[in-house]
Amino acid sequence: MADIALECSCGKVKGVARNISPTTGRRVICYCGDCQNFAKKIGRTDDVLNAHGGTDIFQITPSQVEITQGQDQLRYLKLSEKGIYRWYTNCCQTPAGNMVGPKLPFIGIVHNFMACGDDSEKVLGPVRYSVMEQGAIKPQDTTKSMPSAEKSAGKFPIGLMIKIFARLFIDKIQGKNRPNAFFKSDGTPVSE
Ligand SMILES: [Zn+2]
Ligand SMILES: [Zn+2]
Repeated sequence: MADIALECSCGKVKGVARNISPTTGRRVICYCGDCQNFAKKIGRTDDVLNAHGGTDIFQITPSQVEITQGQDQLRYLKLSEKGIYRWYTNCCQTPAGNMVGPKLPFIGIVHNFMACGDDSEKVLGPVRYSVMEQGAIKPQDTTKSMPSAEKSAGKFPIGLMIKIFARLFIDKIQGKNRPNAFFKSDGTPVSE
């Protein structure tokens, strides 16, 4: 297990993700339209999305995340009223993490915010799932295939859903939505 530095592109926002290993989190590439829209809105499609429009995300609990500097730079976008909170930094528009809300012990850290360097494969493990592949941008050159993952699914695979919900249930009982760098203790976001 390792502690991974979190840092926005300009260095104003810094933090740490603790106890990171391929088994303490889940590496997923999401190809959904909302993830692509988010990257577009913050003007970071070039370095957030892979060649097929996928976003590399590492799913952990908020209790593993500490923001040590620049918390006041955190902002969020909701692409629809019931949409998830998509956190980014105001200073340099680096995507930070996706959260369902203050009560659920779940955060998907966007790869740009994690300073793993070339070690990401070793520290986070290989991509375990590709989800929402119907949203992927098909390769123009048909001889090139989609990025491979251990399990690839058109939508959200039921096995992954069960794993996420089982994990959420256990993490919720253990109170791993706290401490939470993105929501105050009354459940309101740290930024308007
Ligand atoms: Zn920044
Ligand atoms: Zn998505």
